[in-house]
Amino acid sequence: MPWVPKRPLWKRFGERSRGFFLKLRELIGHHEIIRGLQSGLLSGNLAHSFLFAGPSGIGKATVAHRYAQALLCTNPQNAGPSQLGCQQCAACHKVELRCHADLQWVEKEEGKTRISVDQIRELTRFLSLTPMESNWKVAIVDDAAQMNAAAANALLKTLEEPPANSVVILVTCRPGVLLATIRSRCMKYYFHALSEDDFARILMEKVDLAHDQWETVRDYSEGDLGFALRFVQEGQLSECHQLIQEMEQLVRAGSLGKLCEVAEYWSQANRFALAQFVIRQWIMEKVRDCVTSESRPQRVRAWLTMETFANEVFSLAETNNINKRLLLEGIFIKVLRISGAVL
Ligand SMILES: [Zn+2]
Repeated sequence: MPWVPKRPLWKRFGERSRGFFLKLRELIGHHEIIRGLQSGLLSGNLAHSFLFAGPSGIGKATVAHRYAQALLCTNPQNAGPSQLGCQQCAACHKVELRCHADLQWVEKEEGKTRISVDQIRELTRFLSLTPMESNWKVAIVDDAAQMNAAAANALLKTLEEPPANSVVILVTCRPGVLLATIRSRCMKYYFHALSEDDFARILMEKVDLAHDQWETVRDYSEGDLGFALRFVQEGQLSECHQLIQEMEQLVRAGSLGKLCEVAEYWSQANRFALAQFVIRQWIMEKVRDCVTSESRPQRVRAWLTMETFANEVFSLAETNNINKRLLLEGIFIKVLRISGAVL
């Protein structure tokens, strides 16, 4: 367990240092990986390609970003013992802003579902150029599992014959989706979920949450820090509470008109993903309540069946063009029946 002072370090060093310490803390929980990367840097025996794999939202891309800083930093001797890059030089700042000439960050483009072969060809061209401001050309592909087949094959060719002084970091939460031939060419680092203490510390530094809200975020994000931050910062926490209240109200009042209204509202494209998430968690909560309150076995079974049903229909909705309003109505009607509400 790392030592963490009660008083945040940035308060001792002034407001301007706050961003730096927050970033440093994002690396908490991945000490072994940081040490492995640092020792590679010190030995000078660097791999050309890395695979950072592990659950989403726990800091893989952040570590990739810091590793790019370490490679491109002009004052690496000033980096602290648990740091990657000095975080002070112009190169580190440019990497931070993703505007360093020797760094390329590849992710799926706005409105697209996959990383295209053109993006990977551009990456290959970039890596083949001589470094402009440092000794390395660094490319980060996040999420690498989003490459389409042509893109993956193009990347494989680059990994098979990597240009000198090039480093490619593939980031993904689904390493199994990558070609085995790509995986086998990478030095692999497997990231593990943050401990609850680390997760809480990082989140509480970034967003202001009341204690009861914090518990909701922790439960709903299931350790996914990136999700938790978006969840709070994009106002989804309050939307989440809204749906929970609406479902509780439906169970109490059993109004068919209200049920259709709620289903219509949450079936909209920009709300449906959050609705799925909240409904799944809400049903799980019901299962837990039944178990802890020692309800009759039939009741526990009914909620477990409900959970399976919800998971199945939501999975179907991901791959099929299903009417989402009808789907939600069906789920709500089933929920009301199990709850004993009368429509
Ligand atoms: Zn630096």
